[in-house]
Amino acid sequence: MPHDCRFRPTRCPNVGCGERASVQSLSIHDECCKFKLLSCQKCSEIIRRSEMPAHAAAACPEREACCAFAAIGCPTALTQREVPTHLDECYNSHMLLMLQVVVQQQETIDRLGSRVGQLEGLLLASEEQKEAQESNVRSLEIKMGEVFGRLGGLEQTVKDGAKADRSANLDGAHRKEELAAKIATVAAVVEGQGKTLSELAPLCDRLRVLQAATAHKEAAGSEDNSSNEGAPRSGSVFFPNGYHREPGTRTTTTPTKPATNSLHAHGSGLSWLKAALGGASSKPVKQTPGSEVDDMLKKIKSKAKGSALGSPVASHLQGPYADSAGSYKIHDLVGYFSESHSDWLPATITKVDGEGCVVIDLKPNTHISQEDQSHKVRPRERRAADGAEDGLAHEDETKSSGHSI
Ligand SMILES: [Zn+2]
Ligand SMILES: [Zn+2]
Ligand SMILES: [Zn+2]
Repeated sequence: MPHDCRFRPTRCPNVGCGERASVQSLSIHDECCKFKLLSCQKCSEIIRRSEMPAHAAAACPEREACCAFAAIGCPTALTQREVPTHLDECYNSHMLLMLQVVVQQQETIDRLGSRVGQLEGLLLASEEQKEAQESNVRSLEIKMGEVFGRLGGLEQTVKDGAKADRSANLDGAHRKEELAAKIATVAAVVEGQGKTLSELAPLCDRLRVLQAATAHKEAAGSEDNSSNEGAPRSGSVFFPNGYHREPGTRTTTTPTKPATNSLHAHGSGLSWLKAALGGASSKPVKQTPGSEVDDMLKKIKSKAKGSALGSPVASHLQGPYADSAGSYKIHDLVGYFSESHSDWLPATITKVDGEGCVVIDLKPNTHISQEDQSHKVRPRERRAADGAEDGLAHEDETKSSGHSI
């Protein structure tokens, strides 16, 4: 009798498989038996279960495939079985795709070639720049060496200069002390001159009295010697140093010779004064005695100015009227020696500038320097004192002399 037990042993029926199992579990084994023959779902070929993945991936003729020209643009969807037919049928379209690719690649090659040329140029330029920079670096290194060398020299110079400055400061202090001593000496001299001037004040008073007496004497003498050529004549206007004008004649009259009276001839009474003034008028002068006294007063005046200002007045002027040069004021009456006339002409000061130059009414466009004044300009305000006979003129003269001192 057949045995229908569910657990009776049996073998797997698939070829090549030797699996032994119970009848009950054989159906479960058959679901996963590697030797089970299966049909391919695409090409219906009978293949063992274990070989089915390899068949589907590489052997099944109905598997999905790509045209070889898909990479350059062929869009056709194919199976592996259709590929040879497609390549034959689409040969021309595939060649066109190839041509496009070739053209594009040639353009790319050309573009890359030009780009390579540019880059080569840049590389060459950068190499040249690099060489230039290296050269600059070398020259800068050389200059740096020179600068450091000079810096060292300058540092040494500064050190030496600092030492010299310290010694120079010491010398400067010594010089300051010497200058202070000299200033003190000069101050003492100026103070002594001030005292001398105060002592001279009574002397000046006596001079004025003497001047008045001398003028009276001249007036008396002119009456006695009216024909004397060397003395002022009565009724005429006499100017110092030769300017002579007759009353009622033209202003530009002919000059006379300068008076030749000497101090010894007419002023013997002044010898004590001459000695007191240190021989300031020791040599005979070609002036009237009255004008010589006036010159002495002017010298005292200029001496006082020199003491006050600390410098001599007009000491550089060389002309015979240096004492008056530079001291004129506007409206002063002067005599001017005209070279074209070879003559002294009466003139009036019309302008005085800050440097002592003057302008006269005869030459309104000419500034006469102090040096020229000492040769060509002389005062003529004293004509009344020299020529007049009354006491009023003497009184005016005394006043003006007093103011000038
Ligand atoms: Zn089996
Ligand atoms: Zn298949
Ligand atoms: Zn294709």
